[in-house]
Amino acid sequence: MLVETGSLQDGEQIESEVTIVGAGAAGIVIAIELAKAGMDVVLVESGDKGPSPDIQALADAHDLGKNYHPPIDECTRLQLGGASVIWGGRCIPFDPIDFAKREYIPHSEWPVQYSELAQYFEAVCGYLRCGEAEFDIRNIPGISQISIVPGLNDGGVLTSRIERWSVIDFGKEYARELAESPHIRLLCGVSCTEIECSGNSGAVSSICGKTLSGKSIKLASKKYVLTAGGLNTTRLLLNSDRVHPGGIGNHSGLLGRFYTGHISGRIAKVAFSTDPKKTAYGFGRDKDGVYLRQRFSFDSETLNRHKIGNIVGWLVNPQLSDPSHGNGVLSFAYLVLSSPFGRFLVSEAIRKAAVTGAKGSSIHHIRNMFCDLPRTLHFMGSFGYGRYLAKPRTPGFFQYSKANQYDLHYFGEQTPNPDSRVSITDHRDKLGMRRIHIEHRYLQQDIDNVIEAHKLWDAHLRQQGCGALEYLDGDLPSTIGENANDGFHQIGTTRMSDKPEEGVVDKHGKVHHIDNLYIASSSTFVTASQANSMFTILAFAARLSRHLAGESKSDSTSMS
Ligand SMILES: Cc1cc2nc3c(=O)[nH]c(=O)nc-3n(C[C@H](O)[C@H](O)[C@H](O)COP(=O)(O)OP(=O)(O)OC[C@H]3O[C@@H](n4cnc5c(N)ncnc54)[C@H](O)[C@@H]3O)c2cc1C
Repeated sequence: MLVETGSLQDGEQIESEVTIVGAGAAGIVIAIELAKAGMDVVLVESGDKGPSPDIQALADAHDLGKNYHPPIDECTRLQLGGASVIWGGRCIPFDPIDFAKREYIPHSEWPVQYSELAQYFEAVCGYLRCGEAEFDIRNIPGISQISIVPGLNDGGVLTSRIERWSVIDFGKEYARELAESPHIRLLCGVSCTEIECSGNSGAVSSICGKTLSGKSIKLASKKYVLTAGGLNTTRLLLNSDRVHPGGIGNHSGLLGRFYTGHISGRIAKVAFSTDPKKTAYGFGRDKDGVYLRQRFSFDSETLNRHKIGNIVGWLVNPQLSDPSHGNGVLSFAYLVLSSPFGRFLVSEAIRKAAVTGAKGSSIHHIRNMFCDLPRTLHFMGSFGYGRYLAKPRTPGFFQYSKANQYDLHYFGEQTPNPDSRVSITDHRDKLGMRRIHIEHRYLQQDIDNVIEAHKLWDAHLRQQGCGALEYLDGDLPSTIGENANDGFHQIGTTRMSDKPEEGVVDKHGKVHHIDNLYIASSSTFVTASQANSMFTILAFAARLSRHLAGESKSDSTSMS
């Protein structure tokens, strides 16, 4: 049921079994799962069904440190559905190696094993609408070529692992289910500004919610789950420091530390020496029509032997902005995305990533389009339909290269670093919440990982006689450092640990020393993997839901 903010009274207390803060993908999944278990849930969301600049401004950071972080409105969305309104749609789980303690990656010890999460993958794929929980192309029927190019067999380097794609907006996809559930009350337009704790037990007694129109409400439950996204969850804890010095969960001094994500960019292209027509450069589809893509990755033994962080690479178009590619479709895409109209077509972060790079004159782009008119016209129709009318939506586009050369985009885990951190300032938003300061830092190890991975990919291609890497211009370490930038995956600031002194939450996401407060967010991740965060956030969300439903059942059994 949707509770209209207009119907709320100033000072009202809303009681439930569980309060969930934040209706992004994680909050929506937990609300639905708990409702299925018959639990009475209040789901509180800062934003509304559509975007609002005034609400979005509440999340602004006071400052973003020296570098390496996009503006907050490009990496969060205060709206029903959260960041899934603006995400890319790449669905990929973490690997077993991500959960292993690796001596060469400091602070890499998780309290959870891969197998404990893998049992939720099918449910996650269901929520994401991304088909079956199968990420090895050898087990997907109907795909004849296993490797990215013929003859490139898996060894230490793999090309048989795939990513799935699903461009869904959780706010739209699940609005009806939330509204119709008799167990869920959804409050939009209410921002949680402080978690209030009892002075005696330190447990949460209520959460304070405020609207921009000036109303204050109290949310009182047996249990509370924070799903406000990595940055906003951390900010809410840091702001709740009346009883717990430094904020709730800061018993170890680690709240806000280890702020990480990924290192990504491009420094090389792959020049294949195989039949250009047989290069798997674009999307495949599975039997459900779900979009799939192959990528370069590594097996665990190779990562361990070379002591490198988990990293993958995928083939991409040449930079759209540089008309020397001579491709009408790429020039058309560049002109549209760099025009004022571009921001209505894709999220700002994705638009900016697509149009950055060496600029050429518009005349050259227009000439490319005219010289390549039939293909460009065909693309306008087919891509427009696939992206905005078809279901599932087309996630993107890749252009065939006659020369069989493709840029290689790398995407690797960022090494956990306690000095990369989010902290609180004295600057306040309109609702009185203190804003954050972000100091996002990469390490030399992150840069070294990227260079080593490229050497291994190059050696593998050469050994198998399938081609080689050609490095793009520039000094490699500086280019990698200049490309380094992330705020989209928001990892580490409420990290998981078995021992309270080594983290903020336990293996279920319960805040150490506080019996009734849980977190389901990328902020609980210990390491970042080669995978984007959504899939694993939802696996943890599904796992936490089962845990909470189990506790609720045993509470009611022991009371009867
Ligand atoms: C541009 C972009 C591209 C991305 N692409 C990918 C991709 O391809 N694949 C992938 O796996 N991941 C991707 N991600 C990351 C992914 O979208 C996020 O990890 C995921 O959506 C996070 O979900 P969440 O529910 O944990 O948090 P969020 O989506 O951030 O949701 C949090 C919700 O809480 C609400 N909220 C915040 N503060 C409060 C408060 N104080 N009170 C009440 N409500 C509050 C917010 O309004 C929001 O609705 C991308 C992210 C961005 C920004």
